[in-house]
Order: sequence, then C-alpha cells, then structure tokens
Amino acid sequence: MTGEKQNTGTGEKHYTGGAFRGNFTQQEPLPEQAIANAVALMRTGRLHRYNTVGEELSETSELEREFASYMQSRFCLACASGGYAMHIALTAFGVKAGEPVLTNAFTLSPVPGAIHNAGAAPVLVETTRQLVIDLDHLEHQIVASGARVLLLSHMRGHIVDMDALCQLLETHQVALIEDCAHTMGASWGGRKSGSFGVAACFSTQTYKHINSGEGGLLVTNDDSLMARATLLSGSYMLYQRNGTVPDADAFEQAKYQIPNCSGRMDNLRAAILRPQLELLDQNCSRWNELYRTLEQALQGHKNIEVPERDEQESYVASSFQFLIDNLSTEQARKFVGDCKTHNVELKWFGSTEPEGFTSKHTSWKYIEPHSLSQTDTVLQGLFDLRLPLTFTTEDCGHIAEIIRHHANNIGKA
Ligand SMILES: *Cc1c(COP(=O)(O)O)cnc(C)c1O
Repeated sequence: MTGEKQNTGTGEKHYTGGAFRGNFTQQEPLPEQAIANAVALMRTGRLHRYNTVGEELSETSELEREFASYMQSRFCLACASGGYAMHIALTAFGVKAGEPVLTNAFTLSPVPGAIHNAGAAPVLVETTRQLVIDLDHLEHQIVASGARVLLLSHMRGHIVDMDALCQLLETHQVALIEDCAHTMGASWGGRKSGSFGVAACFSTQTYKHINSGEGGLLVTNDDSLMARATLLSGSYMLYQRNGTVPDADAFEQAKYQIPNCSGRMDNLRAAILRPQLELLDQNCSRWNELYRTLEQALQGHKNIEVPERDEQESYVASSFQFLIDNLSTEQARKFVGDCKTHNVELKWFGSTEPEGFTSKHTSWKYIEPHSLSQTDTVLQGLFDLRLPLTFTTEDCGHIAEIIRHHANNIGKA
C-alpha cells in the first residue's frame, strides 16, 4: 500500500499509493435485532409513545428506563433530537428570555441554536489546544456576563478536567447542563460523562453513538426539572406512562404552567435504539481501537499535533482531530483538497463559510459577535475526520499514510 513518492520540480512529492476506498459517512447496518423489533412494532401499528394497550410499557418508555439505568440516573426523557433535548433542558431549568447562557465557542451549531430556542443569549467561551473549554476564560465570562448556567459541549468527545470545572462552577454558583452528543459511553475519573450536572443531553442522530436517524435523550436526577421537561416534550396529561416519572406532586403546579412543545420520541426509533444500547460499550472499544491506530500513525509527524488527552478521560473517539500550526487559509484549503484527491475527507474548522455540518462562531450571526482570538487560532489549524465502525484498523493505517504524505507537502508547492 505504500506509495512511491516522486520528486517534482516544485519539491512537492506525488503520492502514488492507492486512494482510500472507504466512505466516511457510512455507518454500520443496524443490528438484526433492531430490524426485527422495528418490523414487529410496525405490525402492531402502535407507533405513538402513548398508544399502549393495558399496562404495556411502550418501547419509548422501556428505552427511557434502560438508558436511565445505563447512566445510573433517576430519570430519562426520550425526545425528537439532541438539539431539542438541550432546548427543553434549559427551559425546564428555568432559563428566561434574554438571559445569558455560557457555552463553548467550539461546538456544533445545534448548541447555540438550543440556547437561542430557549430565548436566551449564548455567551461563548474560548477553547484550548486540547479542544476543551478554557477554564480561565470561562471564569472571566461568568463574571462578565453574570450567567447562572453553562451548557457544556463535550465537543468531538474531548472532556475538560471535570474536577476543576465543577469546582469553578461551584465557586460561582453556576449550574451545569452537559451536551453529551459525542460522549455517550465516555467517562471522567470513572464517572459517566452526563452525570456531572443538573441535566445532560444526548443525541441519537445517525452520526452519534447509537443511531435512530434522529433522536435525543435527556437525563437528570431532579424531580421538578424532569416534570417540566416531560410536560414541555409534549406528554399531554399522559406523563404517568413515561418510563421514568417523578412523583405526581412534581407535576401539580407545572401541569398548568408549562406549555406543550411537542418533541416526543416515537416507538419506532426507541425499538431500534434498544438493541444498540446493549452494544454501546463494545462499540466504544471498537471506536477507540480505530482512534489509537490513527493516533499512533500520525503522532511524531513534524507538522501534525494530536491533542493530548488526560489520564482521567475515558473517551469514545468516533471521530479524530489534529492540528497543523501556522497555516494560511490557502494552505489549509489545499491540504484538504489534496487529501480529498485520495478520498480522505477532512473537515476544516477554520473556514469562515459554514459548510456541511461544520460552522464557526463567526457565522452564527444571530448572536452577539464575540472576539475569540485563541479559538480562532486553534480552529485555523484544526482538521477533523469521522471514524465510522465500517472502517478497519488497516483503513486507519491507509488514511494516516495519505494524511502524512500531504502534510509533508505543506508549503512546498
Ligand atoms: C449532533 C450534536 C448535537 C445534537 O444534534 P441533533 O442533530 O440535534 O441531534 C449537539 N451537540 C453536538 C456537539 C453535536 O455534534
């Protein structure tokens, strides 16, 4: 597979090894059990989560019980998307119109979108070279904004020092809601990501760790937050049929006060998620094996830096990030284009134009503009690729070879 590298007049070398043949957006097929469950459910016609017979617990309610148990949390609410889960978590927490809400500058667009949807104003915090929230800048932003809640995005699965973070939030009396779209199955210091705050939100969109096309899961241990989130999700007055329900008195006042903002999960999605949840931990190990193969093959390259990870962090690396410093926009674009010629699809976070799933804080023009020079410098050199489980470790070796080759040529042509 090793390509002959020939010199050309410019000093740039050509890669003559074969192009990569895998597909970066191709997930595995669903487990046979998921398909069987879906077919059996469709034969009943009872797809709505509250369409139950007798004492039957719906697939959605079963999923809520199983995910709460996986997370060792008291409550889980299944809903329509990860973004929706974050929006209702914020509203159920009591975020008010116009209120500042802290979040990472480096995250995916549904995160500021959820804050906006809750009527609040995102206050962005710088990111470090380890791709986690900058705790010094967080403290600065807490004081400057007076915010009382942080929606922490564990973006691309990079987990900040949770002990230091929790200490800082406690000092300033700031509540934590975790966005665990990329940390389902991960933990910090032996404690599950998603168990550190008042609530945590997960996504079951196709590119996350369990796949129902779309979907979201909210977990919390707080009775009144759960009651409000359940009502917001569109439970009508059938909330007693949910999988994990607080005592009736938690709903007493709330049921007159909280609007129904329909965003429920349906039984079909829950039916295909339940067998995947059983495979989650096993799949997390498979992702990490791919990640470590790629990491090993790229580490030590003179231009490439793979973000360091803390020993306390037990991550789930369903994607891979690396940094190349001092790149001009032209060089970054050429590097992405060169890798693409060998079918290696890199996302570049430095682009000022939103493209595909990737966008930068400067293109979220519905929020107050922020000046974030540290984040901008990190993003200018930040590349990202997905590691779907349809890839093998040999594939990762091949991808690394292509990336290394084109990284060698930066600045040469
Ligand atoms: C995918 C994602 C979400 C949630 O996305 P939905 O498409 O709404 O399920 C939230 N945060 C991050 C960082 C994500 O990547």
